Amino acid sequence: MTRKIGAKVVMPVSGEPIRNGVVTFDEAGRVTAVSGENGFDPACPGDVEVYDGVLTPGFVNTHSHLELAYMAGVLPPGTGLAGFIKRVMESKFTFPEEVQRKAIADADKHLWESGVQAVGDISNTTVSFETKKNSPIKYVTYAEIFDFMAGMSTEAAMQQGEEVVAQAERMGLEAYVTLHATYSVSDKLFGAWHEMKHTGCLSIHYRESLADDELFDRTGPFWDYFQEKGFELDFLNDGSSTNRILRHIPANRRVLLVHNSNVTASDIEQMKAKYERLSWALCPMSNLYIEGKLPPVELMSAYNLNLTIGTDSLSSNTDLSMVAEMRALAEGFNLPLPVVLRWATLNGAKALEMDREIGSFEVGKTPGAVLIEGLDEALRFTPTTSSRRLI
Ligand SMILES: [Zn+2]
Repeated sequence: MTRKIGAKVVMPVSGEPIRNGVVTFDEAGRVTAVSGENGFDPACPGDVEVYDGVLTPGFVNTHSHLELAYMAGVLPPGTGLAGFIKRVMESKFTFPEEVQRKAIADADKHLWESGVQAVGDISNTTVSFETKKNSPIKYVTYAEIFDFMAGMSTEAAMQQGEEVVAQAERMGLEAYVTLHATYSVSDKLFGAWHEMKHTGCLSIHYRESLADDELFDRTGPFWDYFQEKGFELDFLNDGSSTNRILRHIPANRRVLLVHNSNVTASDIEQMKAKYERLSWALCPMSNLYIEGKLPPVELMSAYNLNLTIGTDSLSSNTDLSMVAEMRALAEGFNLPLPVVLRWATLNGAKALEMDREIGSFEVGKTPGAVLIEGLDEALRFTPTTSSRRLI
């Protein structure tokens, strides 16, 4: 059945906001028309379903770890990244698998109902695959590997990545092998990654904490932790996180840099100069949870980057809410709704190379339809702003 959905404001994302706009969908959820201003008469809407809120396309969450959903509330905030990683490494997989599966299914359901259309999701194992396979959400899986920090040989880490991707493919999921971070992967693995199969996209945790760059000066909390564990670091001659990526990752790969909390103008310029298919994921709520700070969004905005938004996992966030992430950015940097909404929809779709199908209200796309409620008159976020899926 065709649905005509009208709202006080429609945000097509691909164009200007439309007052009293209407978007028409066919029975498959495909957009067949987008009206101009006053596409319906509020006094007499006829066959238009009318909502008192802002109508947007479904969100794209470019960075999550569904697998860690069972860790909601387990790890305390404010530990800094090194303290956080240490706790994750120590507490992981001590929960029964059925508890993990239930938490994953609940998180997937919550993401869908709150309006998430697609997710770039990190997996270390296959425990989330059944949920992903049966979900209406489009998942791209990044099978994440790291060697020395997991006490694994490079070969074992590579084999694990290939096996996780193979299982994803058997279940019909799009998947790539990816490297966890610049500080958790040996030189050998960083150098070998691009020769593996399924490396079309690198999604890597990047400059999340100052501790990961202090390593190169043999100081800071990561250095102390690695010393305590007796891990050998063979990559310090790379000099910085940025150099590690630039030296080892070929220019023809799609790259998604996640967190970027301490990124500098020079980092941005070098990354832009090398990678054509480059996107940046901002996870502000996770950054506030772990490190108590936000990335330099004003600086990043000045560079015409493909900025996107991720919720990260429930181990470092109190909710998987794209609205909460947009609110943190809008309030932290005085940004209007259309700017952060673009990051949360169309830019995310570009990062996952799904922008021909989703991310905006354009005729022919199947982007979903989401209602954002509880904004103020000027369309600013409030403490009660929420989102729910209509299609
Ligand atoms: Zn992450």
